[in-house]
Amino acid sequence: SGSAIPADLASLESEVRSYSRAWPAVFRSASGSRLRTDTGDSYLDFFAGAGSLNYGHNNPVLKRALLEYLDADGITHGLDMMTSAKADFLRAFQAKVLDPRGLDHKVQFTGPTGTNAVEAALKLARKVTGRHAVAAFTHAFHGMSLGSLAVTAGPKQAGAGIPVGHTLRLPYDGFGTSGGSGLDLFEELLKDCGSGVEVPAAVIVETVQGEGGVNVASVDWLQRLASLCERWEMLLILDDVQTGCGRTGHFFSFESAGIRPDLVCLSKSISGYGLPMALLLLRPQFDVWKPGEHNGTFRGNNPAFVTATAALANYWADSTLTEATERNSHRIGEFLDRIARAHPEFGLRSRGRGLMWGIAFDRPDLARLISRESFARGLVIETSGAQSQVLKILPPLTITEAELDEGLGVIGDAIDKLAA
Ligand code: PMP
Repeated sequence: SGSAIPADLASLESEVRSYSRAWPAVFRSASGSRLRTDTGDSYLDFFAGAGSLNYGHNNPVLKRALLEYLDADGITHGLDMMTSAKADFLRAFQAKVLDPRGLDHKVQFTGPTGTNAVEAALKLARKVTGRHAVAAFTHAFHGMSLGSLAVTAGPKQAGAGIPVGHTLRLPYDGFGTSGGSGLDLFEELLKDCGSGVEVPAAVIVETVQGEGGVNVASVDWLQRLASLCERWEMLLILDDVQTGCGRTGHFFSFESAGIRPDLVCLSKSISGYGLPMALLLLRPQFDVWKPGEHNGTFRGNNPAFVTATAALANYWADSTLTEATERNSHRIGEFLDRIARAHPEFGLRSRGRGLMWGIAFDRPDLARLISRESFARGLVIETSGAQSQVLKILPPLTITEAELDEGLGVIGDAIDKLAA
């Protein structure tokens, strides 16, 4: 394609960022589900800013709202002040998201990233219960600060000094209808807590583990986890940072399980435009913060409130987006079944919900190779899992059927090429 990362930039940017190495191009502009490079090449986007662009790049409705707001000298930084942009967002969130689902959670704006929302949740759970430990799962990803990293699993805990001493690690094994024995073990531990083991303050969980390899928890397993939390008075923290805002079909990923988490972390696609914004939803009885107890300069990203409000008004007034997501999800599932049948030699296993699908292979290096082959054919697609062993399909929810088929076709071609 002729595009590449210029040598001066390659030496300037830390090796810690992998995407710039995986995708050797300089991207300039994007709209909908397409990215364009400096050299005029076009790429279909099956990554969507790691789930931050559920409504696509530069969504025209959101863009218009933002431009009008800036044009009218709308406030860009308001700390905790009430602003009209914040008021509009809060009212829209209540009307379009909370009320229709019978949720009475309060909204806490945290620092601007998902990590910040998780950090606030962990701190609040400890404050509410007066206990310290938090139960978290294998393969979990919750963020990069020390607290959120302590509940994150695996190789990202590279640095020393992560305070994992208060983390109780449980197996994430709730697949299929019955699931594994992890929650039986947890229940046994809880029953034994009188003998010196502290009941955790909270359990933090993803309904689908995004970074951990697209592991999909069953409804039964989530319900059992929620009932364990209720019985032992542990707060259930649902990390909907990647799975929220419609990614799995409904606005919240836990809706289909009929559970009611105590705390919900939202970020990534909540602003809808790729603007930093994060929030914690908390049941009113847990709003025990004292004024100023958990602050942060960038809690009030007003331009993000504006695009978030436009996204709620445009996409969450009815079920159109949910229905489209479910249709497209089905399309992906069928396609992957066909590919699995065509290539038994790769031992392909697929799983997903909504527009979040993972493809695992017998050979752990295949996902990376397919990602690279796909890029050469005009598709941006990432891997996930501790060994990057799972190819992750994460397109904007607004993708058209034709674009979806085009991207899936590229994956199919890449797999054919590797099989040849
Ligand atoms: N929780 C989950 C489930 C995530 O997927 C991520 C980001 N990949 C985070 C938390 C952290 O969010 P951020 O990178 O915005 O801090």
